[in-house]
Amino acid sequence: MSDNERIDRDFNLRDDEEKKAFLEQTWCDQCQEVNLGMVEPEEYELNDIIFIEGKCAKCGHIILTEITDDEF
Ligand SMILES: [Zn+2]
Repeated sequence: MSDNERIDRDFNLRDDEEKKAFLEQTWCDQCQEVNLGMVEPEEYELNDIIFIEGKCAKCGHIILTEITDDEF
């Protein structure tokens, strides 16, 4: 067993409110701007942390949201 194993999760199982919030409340390193939006979200777990990875709706740069909340 590796500690760095990525476990895929289904972002679509989240409720609509939650999905909307994740897709709208973003930070893009490239644009240096908040809430530009995210497209093509993928959710996964790595080292007991949940990540939602997508692309900036404006520039296409990868956006990574780390979910620190313990309520998965
Ligand atoms: Zn961007």
